[in-house]
Amino acid sequence: MKRFTIGPVELYQSTKEVRLHDFVHFRTDEYSEIVKNSLSKLSSMLGNKTADSTIYLTASGTAAMEATIENCVQSFDKVLVINGGAFGHRFCELLEYHHKNYDSIDLKWNETLEYKHLMPYENKGFTMLFVNLHETHTGQLYDIKMISDFCKRNNMMLVVDAISTFLADEYDMEKYGIDLTIISSQKGLCLSPGVSFISFSKRMLEKLSYPPPLSKYFDFIDYLNNIKRGQTPYTPAVFVMYELQDMLKLIEQEGGLKTRLAFVKQKAQYFRKKAKELGFYIPGYPLSNALTPLYFEDVDAYEVIQLLKNKYRIFVNPCGGDLSKNLLRVTHIGNTTIADIDDLFDKLVLCVKEVKEKDCDRK
Ligand SMILES: *Cc1c(COP(=O)(O)O)cnc(C)c1O
Repeated sequence: MKRFTIGPVELYQSTKEVRLHDFVHFRTDEYSEIVKNSLSKLSSMLGNKTADSTIYLTASGTAAMEATIENCVQSFDKVLVINGGAFGHRFCELLEYHHKNYDSIDLKWNETLEYKHLMPYENKGFTMLFVNLHETHTGQLYDIKMISDFCKRNNMMLVVDAISTFLADEYDMEKYGIDLTIISSQKGLCLSPGVSFISFSKRMLEKLSYPPPLSKYFDFIDYLNNIKRGQTPYTPAVFVMYELQDMLKLIEQEGGLKTRLAFVKQKAQYFRKKAKELGFYIPGYPLSNALTPLYFEDVDAYEVIQLLKNKYRIFVNPCGGDLSKNLLRVTHIGNTTIADIDDLFDKLVLCVKEVKEKDCDRK
């Protein structure tokens, strides 16, 4: 079995082994030390130099998105959302649900985010911008420099869902003036699902104090106060934090963040070159190294995905919504190699052929 799914991804062997070992109770100095150490390493990988400004929630990424809205968006705020797919749409739905004041830039399928989309929103009184920097639904990676410059010019706070770009593409909170970053355990970090992380800029920490959120469990101030001593208000997913400790060690041993990013990029480039050689179509918008979408016109992508899974136990991502028959998404994060990519293409070509022949027979 091989997973080319974006999250949970194919796990590393050492991550699987972590779960076989015993663990200490979370209300101990030993556990606090593990948490403090890991979160400080994670903060530095995110380009956040503010001490004790990264918290973790035992909840998936969407919970972190929702908690961010409830904790950080106040009644006077006007939020602009980049909505280029399912995850952008999710931000809109959550803002709507929480009665926040927002507007969205809605991109059409295959449309690249450009300055012309942002221009109408210059000097319009928006106070925050929300973006899923890598819109995982389509694979588009937005231009962070363009977005960051726009926010700086308009004195807007920048909130980034970096869930599927972190550890796949370069990322730096300080360099781009990012005020809040959301990541989660099951994507670039290649851990089990269940934990999300939120990293704050100094300016965002100051904005937090009032009014309190309409959620007791997700009150960020409570988490921030607790994290100073490596603790959480409630029982955390202890095992995932052990996996994190192990993964950060693994990344260090490999040669650090740059080496990890280079490996993911190498796999992405190899995959894309080979896909083109074999006649597959890759959409033209800028892509994250985390994922490559393959576009199918004359074959049902969903059927190809099912066949890959049922016949060869190879898992790739389908695409929800209108694109489900057209897009197949393959990730480059996780414990996969160049040889695995070769194997995937061997099987993919066979599956496409089989689905095509079946379609012909039907006609
Ligand atoms: C995976 C993902 C999420 C979180 O989804 P959950 O199922 O709640 O973990 C959020 N945003 C993006 C861009 C993602 O890729």
